[in-house]
Amino acid sequence: MNAALLKKWFQTLAPIGALSEGGVTRPAYSAEEDLMFRATADIARRIGLSVSEDCAGNMFISFPGREKEPCHLIGSHLDSVPGGGRFDGVAGVLAALLVMEKIRRNGEDLPVRAVAFRAEESSLYGLATAGSGVITGSVNIAHLKNARSLSGESLYDAMIRKGYTPGACRLEHALDFMELHIEQGRVLFEAKEPLGVVTAIAAPTRLKVTVLGRQDHSGATPMDLRKDALCAAADIILATEAAGRDEMRFATVATVGVANVVPNALNVVPGSVELRIDIRGIQRESIRRTVGKVQRAIEEIAASRGLSCATETISSMDPVTLAPSMIDSLAEAASGTGVPFRKMASGAGHDAMKVAPVVPTGMLFIPCDEGISHNSAENASLNDIALGAEVMLRSISLRSKHLSTADRSQPFSKL
Ligand SMILES: [Zn+2]
Repeated sequence: MNAALLKKWFQTLAPIGALSEGGVTRPAYSAEEDLMFRATADIARRIGLSVSEDCAGNMFISFPGREKEPCHLIGSHLDSVPGGGRFDGVAGVLAALLVMEKIRRNGEDLPVRAVAFRAEESSLYGLATAGSGVITGSVNIAHLKNARSLSGESLYDAMIRKGYTPGACRLEHALDFMELHIEQGRVLFEAKEPLGVVTAIAAPTRLKVTVLGRQDHSGATPMDLRKDALCAAADIILATEAAGRDEMRFATVATVGVANVVPNALNVVPGSVELRIDIRGIQRESIRRTVGKVQRAIEEIAASRGLSCATETISSMDPVTLAPSMIDSLAEAASGTGVPFRKMASGAGHDAMKVAPVVPTGMLFIPCDEGISHNSAENASLNDIALGAEVMLRSISLRSKHLSTADRSQPFSKL
């Protein structure tokens, strides 16, 4: 892999949306995201590749003349969270370009196409993986119209404003899909392993719990006469942690990330608390058990403290299992490089989970320093990106050998 070229590309993109305090802000369908797409298109053209855009603004990078051929698709996204890092998403797009650059330089005949998806992050419109979702059919026009920024603009209107026509196209000519991404957790960093082959992508179930106690004077209300909503909420938070710990061996996690205390005043016994609970896992049964344990604990805590709790499921998504054929070929390719790697689940969501129901999909993780991501301190190694690109190229070669000419002419997309 051409490490010097990768460094140059990374440095070209780094200043886009850069903040004086560090980090980058490249929101979905913003001027900064446009600049990222334009700069990436320029890089692709400079190495002799052709560039096209679909109805949602996702960018496809092809070998000239092979734009309509069934190809192995590789890529990720180019937007960022506010004050995010320079590797989240970008690493996967640059790795895809590295793969194509090497194939072109070596004059190999491998059908590969790179993709840069739009609007992967949910920070602005509250909807994640919009670009990949809309062309794989899991995000529809109603979802786009309901997803609104704080200024009130819908994601649908943002796409129209940019001249796109969401709903007018579908992902085409993809044999399979691979995404390289920074892990955004600490597993690989702690283990000092440069690669992870992702087996499944966790999905969140989210609950909103409203604890209704009684708001009272903190001085005049004896302890035995209280219905303290915050104390009940504290019990629920610990019960949620315990439920998550019970399911640790299945890689399920449970978190209370939001607690809104009313009235949140020093001299008042809290009258009500709203909690938001995020439960994620890769095994449906384990997620279901964890949600059940949390709900039973909430009922018991409410009953024992003599107050009421209302629980509402805000969202519930199914975990995504990645294609065994892709996991196997990535693992075989990684073994071939001789570097240590592991098979692991992804706790965070990615474009790959939107593509997985449509074509066989695989994912490769590289470590990020201390596991820090969605943060200006996010850092990863360009060498690991190059290594990941090498593994993806090897895995494509492995799969290409298995694909007969007849298979290649079949339209793979189920849409
Ligand atoms: Zn990302």
